[in-house]
Amino acid sequence: MDRSLPLSQFEPQSQLVLPEHRPERARFPAIDAHNHLALHAEDAYDPAWTLQSPQQLIDMMDRRNLRGLVDLDGRPERLRSALTSYKEAHRGRMAVLAVLDWSVCAEPGWPAVLAEQLASALALGADGLKVSKGLGLRHRDEHGRLIPVDDPRLGELWAVAADAGATVLIHTADPVAFFRPLDRFNERWDELHLRPEWSWYGPQFPTFESLMDQLIGLVGTNARTVFQVAHVGSYAENLAWVADQLLTPHPNVYVDISERIAELGRQPHFARRFLIDFQDRVVFGTDRPPLGPWYPYYFRFLETFDDYFPHGPEVPPRQGRWNISGVGLPDDVLAKLYRDNALKLYPSLNG
Ligand SMILES: [Zn+2]
Repeated sequence: MDRSLPLSQFEPQSQLVLPEHRPERARFPAIDAHNHLALHAEDAYDPAWTLQSPQQLIDMMDRRNLRGLVDLDGRPERLRSALTSYKEAHRGRMAVLAVLDWSVCAEPGWPAVLAEQLASALALGADGLKVSKGLGLRHRDEHGRLIPVDDPRLGELWAVAADAGATVLIHTADPVAFFRPLDRFNERWDELHLRPEWSWYGPQFPTFESLMDQLIGLVGTNARTVFQVAHVGSYAENLAWVADQLLTPHPNVYVDISERIAELGRQPHFARRFLIDFQDRVVFGTDRPPLGPWYPYYFRFLETFDDYFPHGPEVPPRQGRWNISGVGLPDDVLAKLYRDNALKLYPSLNG
């Protein structure tokens, strides 16, 4: 008899019998400081997650005990409508971050053009700036060269944010496994085989390590600017690095936990220590369709000591093949992580 089994067919079912807690509402009023209302507007996987109206979002937020939400999709063509239909229509519940048009980098003089784009967006009412992983991986200058994250030519852009007291939410790189060979040792094999275009492995791309060095250069050189570095500083696989290299030396840096409970929850003891040590610098966020079923997974991870539960619903492409445990944060830490820290970054949510 053939005892081999294709990995795609391996679906082991845990026989553990454990206490289960499934909070449907955040224990304290929360702010989702990393979400995308345009990106997630229409959901192909489940039409029920498609956003029909701002009011539908507010109703969901009330059900989940979400006090506020930060929308990262303030692209030039959408910023005005996002400000009108979300931020202004629901004062204190919604913040909107500006997204710039980086295609201007193909023409000389682009640093001033980017700075001007941000200044106008902030004048319109944007709460800050979102910078995607395109910086470091895709955006090229007038010579066709990749613009590094710590490029000194971007100094005037970061200065505009600093002068306005506006937060820069930046995402650098991707999970470490996306930069490694797509072979049997890759811990995100399932996901990368479904979405091979997510791989950054190869000589044509910067290495993960060089991008992290650039990130450190960025936050160190622009100490007046406040940065929210997405996805646990973009290096949740190495919390000691986030603590020692990113957060401790740079008081201008915060991190969000969006899209990373799979990482934090597979190292729950170390992650708990980290979240308590940096309780004034970590913000809650999901980066997931707000009408989808993700919030209760985050609440369970943060609030309970449950063991060995899935880090999300079974929606392809799934992240790593492992389960997580909760970190059962103390109430005072939870309140800061859920809301107080985000209010420092987006004071308009104080309304
Ligand atoms: Zn995001």
